[in-house]
Amino acid sequence: MTDNKTPEGEKTLHASGAPRTLSVKRPETGVVRQAFSHGRSKAVVVEIKRPTVVRPGGKAESAKSVVLELVKADVAVPVAPASSKPLKPAPVQPKSGGMVLRTLTEEEKVARSRALKDARVAEEEERRRAQEDAKRRAEDEERLEREREAAAKRKIEDELRRVADEDSRRKIEVDARRRLDPDDDGSVTTTTQPHPRSASNAAPRGATTTSTRPAPGGAPARTPAGGPGRSPPSTRPQPSGGLSTLPPRRAGGDDDDGRKRAGGAKGVPAKAPAAPRKGADDGRRTGKLSVVTALNETERVRSMAAYKRHVQRAQRAQHGVKDSEPPQKIIRDVVIPESITVQELANRMATRAVDIIKSLMKQGQMVTINTSLDADTAQLIAEEFGHSVKRVAEADVLEGLKGELDSDETLTPRAPVVTIMGHVDHGKTSLLDALRQTDVAAGEAGGITQHIGAYQVTLPSKQKITFLDTPGHAAFTAMRARGAKVTDIVVLVVAADDGVMPQTIEAINHAKAAKVPIIVAINKIDKPGATPDRVRTELLTYEIVVESMGGETQAIEVSATKKLNLDKLEEAILLQAEVLDLKANRNRPASGAVVEAKLDKGRGPVATVLVARGTIKVGDIVVAGAEWGRVRALVNERGEQVPSAGPSEPVEILGLSAPPEAGDDFAVVENDSRAREVADFRARKKRDARTRAGGRASLDQVLADKGVGAKYLPLVVKSDVQGSVEAISAALSQLSTAEVKAQVLHAGVGGVTQSDIILARASGAPIIAFNVRATAEARDMAKRDGVEIRYYSIIYNIIDDIRLAMSGLLSPTLRENFLGYASILEVFNITKVGKVAGCQVTEGKVLRGNKVRLLRDNVVIHEGTLSTLKRFKDEVKEVVTGQECGMAFENYQDIQKGDQIECFEVETVKR
Ligand code: GDP
Ligand code: MG
Repeated sequence: MTDNKTPEGEKTLHASGAPRTLSVKRPETGVVRQAFSHGRSKAVVVEIKRPTVVRPGGKAESAKSVVLELVKADVAVPVAPASSKPLKPAPVQPKSGGMVLRTLTEEEKVARSRALKDARVAEEEERRRAQEDAKRRAEDEERLEREREAAAKRKIEDELRRVADEDSRRKIEVDARRRLDPDDDGSVTTTTQPHPRSASNAAPRGATTTSTRPAPGGAPARTPAGGPGRSPPSTRPQPSGGLSTLPPRRAGGDDDDGRKRAGGAKGVPAKAPAAPRKGADDGRRTGKLSVVTALNETERVRSMAAYKRHVQRAQRAQHGVKDSEPPQKIIRDVVIPESITVQELANRMATRAVDIIKSLMKQGQMVTINTSLDADTAQLIAEEFGHSVKRVAEADVLEGLKGELDSDETLTPRAPVVTIMGHVDHGKTSLLDALRQTDVAAGEAGGITQHIGAYQVTLPSKQKITFLDTPGHAAFTAMRARGAKVTDIVVLVVAADDGVMPQTIEAINHAKAAKVPIIVAINKIDKPGATPDRVRTELLTYEIVVESMGGETQAIEVSATKKLNLDKLEEAILLQAEVLDLKANRNRPASGAVVEAKLDKGRGPVATVLVARGTIKVGDIVVAGAEWGRVRALVNERGEQVPSAGPSEPVEILGLSAPPEAGDDFAVVENDSRAREVADFRARKKRDARTRAGGRASLDQVLADKGVGAKYLPLVVKSDVQGSVEAISAALSQLSTAEVKAQVLHAGVGGVTQSDIILARASGAPIIAFNVRATAEARDMAKRDGVEIRYYSIIYNIIDDIRLAMSGLLSPTLRENFLGYASILEVFNITKVGKVAGCQVTEGKVLRGNKVRLLRDNVVIHEGTLSTLKRFKDEVKEVVTGQECGMAFENYQDIQKGDQIECFEVETVKR
């Protein structure tokens, strides 16, 4: 108010004459010296409202001049706090040593004495008012107190009031118990009583009170000095007592005063007492007291957690120190396989993975929770943590997965599982379809509607045969390679008009290797040129002696299209099955093999399995290869949901985590943790195998892997024409050093297929692709299985590479990096330019300036450079996947729709 006028403020006032202030009359101001306690004083600028004083000469002189004169005389003038108030003729006390006033006129004397009288009257009045105020305050307090007490007994609608009253009632109850002194009543309400208005009214009472602090209306009563404890009632500022009653230990009289005056606004007198009491009680609440906080804090009780801690502490105290020690370590038997991740080890030790990582770090080994530890390290850690260790071989995980062998009396006959093999176009698919239609159940239930990789036919005699839809011997072998022997009988299809062909021979070899009995189906006997006898004779060459020639192999003449002798073929199968005495135990958890698996858009991972023994039911927990899951549904080949499937029954399983691989075995396990364990183990195995395969099948590492004792370098050769196949095979076969000999496992014409990759992976051989490329699937598979495919277009390079590989010195080679594929969608003949291929980049990118090859059916027919690479009309540098472009070869015109263009760069690789 008046006391905060700085010189700046003064300036503002005086600057009113400046152009920016348009008032005609400049406000009259003056400076008064304001005295504070302890002899401090301060010059204060005040605005003057002057009552006109009439001088004898009729000259009017404002009170201002009087005051100003007084100021000049350095007289302390108590100033009313509000500058807007008319300045009362103040009680003036000339200070000794001040300037001598000029002689006063009569009028002046009169005026002055009147002023003095007025001042005295005013002062008197102030005092009286202050006393009245105090009295009223005391009365108010009492009244409020009464009200509060009354409020405690009745319901007050007003929310604020209600809350405050509840609180005060609670407080009062507490206080009543604690306090003996009746003065307490005053202390309860002290801080709330002084109203701001009365405070300002009381201001002139003493210069010491002019420094009003704008105290927040809601936080009036916090007593910083009294925070930690409750102030004794006697120390409480009494409303009428003024400052003099404050004990000396109270910090800052001004503070207390201000606080006192800043008491709650009139509207909230009831709520205020709650807060100060609270503050005094626990000394905790800080900040502004708003309605929300007031409401919230009324129910301030010890939190549940605090209570629990308290109880625990008490219990601990009761039981003595022993219980406060960390709980005793539990020593566990930790099962450690050949390799275990940090996380898994932590789980098994029931410790935090972090602790294991810490302990490993101390030994200088930086690991993460996913790091695989070898058994020795894991054992060290486990023992360090005080556990006992049980080492197991990795395969132990799988132990018991298959269950014990079934005793003879539990076995019941099961349907034979038949695979049909043979040369291409000899009628395998036709025969399978024909046999499918012999199913009697088909007529009743709408037939076999689904190709799920296997199906079962029921013969009129109620006997059943399960047929596997395997697409050839490669798949058969792939399944066998994974250890799944699902097939009981092989039906070898040989076309009567074609005889034994290369794939027929392969099929025979595969079947023999698997030690599976063969039944020969001589197909297409309806054809005019059919010579079944020739087939029988030819088969002799491959040690298959049919019954009619005194052997044991059954041979049936059939026609798939004409459906001739299909029943005879089935009879033969059943007869063979009888010989094999196929039996299985139905009443046990199921196990078997995965025939086919895929990721179905609507149904998720779907695996067709063939149950070998036991019965699989909906709800079973099953592990299939490296995947597991709970069987959500079982669907048969007719698309019907079935509740269970027994031995030799093919069925689709829904509910696996991911599709397993064809040929994986599956088994029902007791619980999901077991399933997870097995699946994890297999996944890890698979990963390891892949890493190893990655090393094994690349040319420069095959030998390194084989070590000193290596004798053979296995190779798979694929080439564009028979001539080069022979040339390469011959050249490679002659290559040999003292220790190593190149061995061509397989050489053939055509692109690199999946079957080549399987073979290469199985024998750890790199694939030499001469002027041919791998099919997309084969490429993916090679990448996945870590089989190296080396592409060549010059025979000498092959020979050189292999020779150097064998001598362990692969010199820097020119190695090509694949950049991208584009397929030719259309060929345009443009005059002057020649043939231009309209292409779409299907993989990677095509770059101008790099080399390109033209492929037709995965065979390289031209190698050169591009003369042009255009996107729309512009010549561009590169075209990426999905984009269309126009390309033309330099000096080469023989391009066709459907051809592929391969773009690659040549790089020198240092060995
Ligand atoms: P796959 O390659 O072994 O599966 O042979 P397919 O079943 O696809 O048959 C190849 C061709 O032989 C098809 O055109 C069939 O129609 C035909 N074919 C299959 N079985 C017979 C048969 O018994 N008689 C005649 N005349 N043609 C047949
Ligand atoms: Mg077919």
